Parts: sequence; C-alpha cells; structure tokens
Amino acid sequence: MPKPLPKKVTKTQEEKLEERLEEKLTEVVRQQEETRAKLLAEKSKLPYVSLTTMPVDSDAMLLISEKDAVAGKMVVIRKVENELKIAVADPNNPETKRVLDELDKKYTHQLFIASNHGLQQILERYKTTKYKGRDITGQIEISEELLLKLKEELKSLEDIKKKVDGMPQAVATGVLEVIVAGAMQNDASDIHLETKEDGAVFRFRIDGVLHDVVFLSTKTYGLIISRLKLMSNMVLNVKDVAQDGRFTIKLSDMEIEVRVSIIPGPNGENVVMRLLNPKSINLSIKDLGIRNDAYEYLIKEIAKPNGMIITTGPTGSGKTTALYAFLKEVTNPEIKVITLEDPVEYHLAGVTQTQVEADRGYTFAAGLRAILRQDPDVILVGEIRDKETAEIAIQSALTGHIVFSTLHTNDAAGAIPRFIDMGANPTTLSSALIDILAQRLLRRVCKFCAEDYDATPEELEKIKKALEGVPATVAIPDYSKGIKLAKGKGCPKCNNTGYKGRVGVFEIIPINEELEKLIAKSPSHAEIVEMLKKTGFVSMYQDGVIKILEKKTTFEELDDVVGQR
Ligand SMILES: [Zn+2]
Repeated sequence: MPKPLPKKVTKTQEEKLEERLEEKLTEVVRQQEETRAKLLAEKSKLPYVSLTTMPVDSDAMLLISEKDAVAGKMVVIRKVENELKIAVADPNNPETKRVLDELDKKYTHQLFIASNHGLQQILERYKTTKYKGRDITGQIEISEELLLKLKEELKSLEDIKKKVDGMPQAVATGVLEVIVAGAMQNDASDIHLETKEDGAVFRFRIDGVLHDVVFLSTKTYGLIISRLKLMSNMVLNVKDVAQDGRFTIKLSDMEIEVRVSIIPGPNGENVVMRLLNPKSINLSIKDLGIRNDAYEYLIKEIAKPNGMIITTGPTGSGKTTALYAFLKEVTNPEIKVITLEDPVEYHLAGVTQTQVEADRGYTFAAGLRAILRQDPDVILVGEIRDKETAEIAIQSALTGHIVFSTLHTNDAAGAIPRFIDMGANPTTLSSALIDILAQRLLRRVCKFCAEDYDATPEELEKIKKALEGVPATVAIPDYSKGIKLAKGKGCPKCNNTGYKGRVGVFEIIPINEELEKLIAKSPSHAEIVEMLKKTGFVSMYQDGVIKILEKKTTFEELDDVVGQR
C-alpha cells in the first residue's frame, strides 16, 4: 500500500463521500429551482429561460444598476434595437415592477422567467464588470431642430472652426454639441481631442484620415474634459490613469453610442471618442464594394451548412463591417446566430451577441465553448489569436457550424501560415477552411468635384502589367484604346481632399481541392502565392486597379494603402 500523504492535504473516504453527497444535493436543489421557475413561467404565460447556459450581454445587463437588479431580482439579457429581453424571478414583485416602469420610459421589454439560482449567478457579475454599478449612461441630447440647424451651418470642417471660434470660450456645453453635430455631418468615425502646450486641438477621423478641426484654449479644454467625464461616468479628479466610458447622443429617431477613452499625456489628458453610428454598419455585402463575380460566389459560400470563412486585414480595414454584412445575409428566424466579440460595438437584430471579458476569465476560447452549448448554426468569433480558440473554431466548422472570424495578416494567403504558427493542425485546418478574404478600404474620388482625365501612357502600362493573369470571367472596362480615369479637384464637400467615402478592395481565396492538399503540407506564404497564380486569383491590388478603371479611386490611394506587389 502506498504511504499515505500527510493528513492535512488528503481527504478521507468519508469526507470525499460527504462532498459528493453535498454536490448531489446542491444539484437536486438547483434542478428543483429550475422546475419551479418553469412552473411559474407556465402559470404567468411567459417564456422560461435557463440562465446557467444562456449568454448574457454585459452591456445590456448594465442598463439596470446593481442595486435595482438585486432589489428587483432581474437581469437584462439582451438589447435588440430598443427592445430589452429581461429575465425576472417574479413578474409580480413590486420592486421588479418599479424598475420595469422606469425602463419603459426609454425601451420596450419582453419578460422571461428565470430561477433564483440562475439570476444570482448573473448578479455576481456586477462585482467583476468594469462599469460596476453604472446606471444608464450619460446623454447628450441634440434636438432635431438644433441638429438640422447645425447641419445646415456645419457643411465643412472650416465651418465648424468658425462656429467654435465665435463662441464664448467659457461655454463648454455648446462647443461639444457643435463638435458632435459637425462630426456627424462630416461622416467622421472618431473625434480626437489632443492636448498641446498651450491648449488642445479637436481632430476628426474621416475616411481613415485625421483632420485638424479647431484649436481650444486651455480653459475651454478643461471645461470640455470635465463635461465629457461627467457624461461618460468617469472619475472627475483622477488625471493620471486611463479611463473608459461611453455616452449616448440622443436624436429623435435614433441613438448613437459614443465610446470614450481618455489617456494621460505630457500636457494633459487626451481623448478619443468613437461614434458608433448604426448607419455605418448597416451595409449589405454589395455596399462594401465587392465585384459582381465575387459577390455571386460569396453568397453561395455563405449558404453552406458548415465551414470556416476568415477575413484578414489590419485594424480599420473594415473587417467587422464585412463580417456583419455576411451575418445579415445569413440571419433568418430559422437559424441561430451567436457572436463573441471584443467588445460588442453594434447591436444586430435577430442575433445573440456576447462579449469577451478577459479579466473574469471569459476569453475567446472559454466564450466559444459556452456558445457551442447553445446549439448555434452560425458563429462569429471576433478574432482568433491563440491555439485554443483556433482549434475550437476549426472543430466547430467541421461539425455542422458556419464559423466567421478574423485574423491580423497582411493578405489572404498569410492566414494559412498564421494558423499553422498558432499550432493549428494543418490537415483539419484544410478541411475546415472554405474561404479566406483580405480587404482594405480606399478613399473614393469625391463625386462632387470629380474630373475625368486621359490615362497617361505610364498609367496604361501600369494597368496592363497589374491586370496580367486576371481571369476572363472578371468584368474589366476596356482600356485597350486608352481610357478616362477620375480625380477629385477638391471642394468644400470633401474638405478639399478630393475624396469622400470609401470603397473596399478585396481578394478571395476559395479553398479548392488543390489548395486543401497544399495546406495539409504546412506550406509557406510563397508556396501559396505560387499556387494562387495558377488558379485565376484576383489580388487586392488587381481589384483596386479595376476600381480605378471604374473611376472609383486613384492610383495614389491604391499604392498608398495596398502597395504594389
Ligand atoms: Zn470634393
């Protein structure tokens, strides 16, 4: 018999038995609680939900403060547009009714009955969630009247500068309204507030490029920072740590969430506000700028019952927008779509969205496992960064799910070596992958100031060389007898840049039998590119050249963003 370990660390047989009994008992009690919840659901004619397996969206959860959630024994599971899905222990509890009345001022709701135990588990999450005990976010209300007036006045960045410069410098309120309305009017995706030695400057990111808008005195800057912190529920007097928060811009017909991030700098705190405009995500696959032949192909691919579709590209290349557009294409009431994002930025109708919370152990891998227990048909994983996530994603794609995800690589071919470097098994990878996409966003020639010009002999030569090997099935404007290209000469509508809006350029690698065989052999990037040349592949650069021929963008933009390859 082996020598027994010191008594302190081992458990006797009885202790083990007792533990097992206790576990069993707890399990029985839990089951009883679930049964009771189901009965109550039947009695009150409301649907039952099991919170032990249902993913809860943290952002939605935080729409009720911890205090109210505990008092009313209730949790917001999900927010779809303006409708809240709320799990409650007892719909007749007066506290529950009170909180619901409060929420009804802003939202509509659908109730579900959950067990006390399930609710208790979710309520625990308030203790670990970042915006602990946060009430409904701050708001900046812009009346339709004011917005229309501001939109009329703020047609260009120059207008915004004039307007702010003309305002009394002590009024932070008005300045922020003008900046926000101006950003929306100019289709800015982000508003930056950067400190300098003698003040601060507001800058807008428009079509991926930053533009200086207006300079503020140190005093006005101080007032604006305080107001922003108040609105976004940040700590006012702390100036030396990074803080995150958000506020809502309320318009009569929609709300725009603004994610605010403040970081300390040598001259004071710097701010980045991201405008999560629902309109910018509301694109279909066609709106993204995909060529017709590629569109027809992708639609068929997405309809497949299983497999993995990866999109690649750096931050800001439009990967998320593309994934959302794909999701919209497949979403219908008969299939279950679940996402795992970091974080959830836009709310999608008909889709269960969950988000990674690494600090409480809810990583991409853990989240993906939890999602699989929900029996989804389609899964969107925000990003694959590690072996574990890669393996679960591949396995899911092989077992009856469509998996969409993204990887940070320079081009589509790069996804294969990246997966293998992460430790994915090349053979299973080759059978799971069905398509790899890569994309970039190029600025569009401003339609208000576009001018045609005859392509130069150098440009014609460049076009001819670039389009070598493009299959005959791809529609290309005829340039054999010369062609007119477009350039924006600059106007107030495009802030004199000559560009307005963006168009995507894409490359798609369909994983055919030949490639599948190659992937199983752990190929290098060069080997994959070599094979693609034989299969009629259209690269991002070639797609960009086609878009130049279609007068959508310029060589300047293509060479800058994609680069000659
Ligand atoms: Zn223009």
